Amino acid sequence: MLCVVLPALSKIFIYFMENEHIIDLSVIIPIFNEQDSIDELYKRLTANVSLITSNYELIFVNDGSSDNSLYKLIELTKQDSRNYYINFSRNFGHQIAVTAGLDICAGSAVIIIDADLQDPPELIPELHKKYKEGYEVVYAKRAKRKGEGWFKLLTAKVFYRILERITSVKIPVDTGDFRLVDKKIIEYLRLMPEQNKFLRGQIAWLGFRQTYIEYDRDSRKYGQTGYPFKKMLRFALDGITSFSDKPLALVTQMGIFVSILSFLAILYTLYGHYVLKITITGWTSLIISTMFFGGIQLISVGVIGLYVSRINKNTINRPLYIVENTNYKRN
Ligand code: UDP
Ligand code: MG
Repeated sequence: MLCVVLPALSKIFIYFMENEHIIDLSVIIPIFNEQDSIDELYKRLTANVSLITSNYELIFVNDGSSDNSLYKLIELTKQDSRNYYINFSRNFGHQIAVTAGLDICAGSAVIIIDADLQDPPELIPELHKKYKEGYEVVYAKRAKRKGEGWFKLLTAKVFYRILERITSVKIPVDTGDFRLVDKKIIEYLRLMPEQNKFLRGQIAWLGFRQTYIEYDRDSRKYGQTGYPFKKMLRFALDGITSFSDKPLALVTQMGIFVSILSFLAILYTLYGHYVLKITITGWTSLIISTMFFGGIQLISVGVIGLYVSRINKNTINRPLYIVENTNYKRN
């Protein structure tokens, strides 16, 4: 009798020990000046996440907001013990804010969602349904994007198409970071300590079973975008330099092409001078060609510089972010 009961009991004990910290679902929400969104966001998030499980955690990462966001987040954590905040010492950027959440979250499944309600929380049950079907990554693909200017739409479209062409990794077109990922993916992401984060690329690179659902992206309900053109450009360059060496190949090819061209021009000038006895006059051609080559050289140095700067950042290897305070106690 005892030899049946004891092993069974110890198995149950081990199960509970191993699963003590397991949470069904973690939601990571980067926050940068979102004081007006937070109330509605919280309502809609909890309503939808509760449809899946009551064993969840909401991790809000305050990325150096200068408005009342932090105060609001702290209020939320007082309301429910499943709410957590991480407060950065300054603004480190959206990708880093999400990374901080990924570093600590404990869920078997993890959702990354923007705070501005452009990613509707109502999609969460649908994402989870696909996850239950056995996919490790379920991302939300933007079918339509409302309320975004033509410039943003055009640049986003061009960027994703270029990225698709020049990378060997299949990074899904027209998707942001709104997605559900399995714990497995998170464990591997934690092993990728790159300084210039491009999470959607890293997740695509990891493989496993990935699928998507389509949705119409709403316009931002409150506040302003935290991604002005400068940040967008930096992000796009991070995406390209993280996943492709093609720009380096391109400048090399350009260099070879221009060298051949100038060699021919030299031959032609010498031929004109010594054989035809005409010295070609022309200040215009001289200045144009000098500027042309100068431009190409500068572009090439710039492209190489982008890659060198990545190496530099990664060798300095500073911590990705500094947490000023948090109420997250797990691990
Ligand atoms: N965000 C952030 N840090 C930043 C910029 C943005 O944490 O430096 C957050 C922001 O609060 C939002 C999400 O990242 O939850 C997406 O930002 P935003 O909506 O401004 O970008 P867009 O949708 O305009 O590309
Ligand atoms: Mg937005």
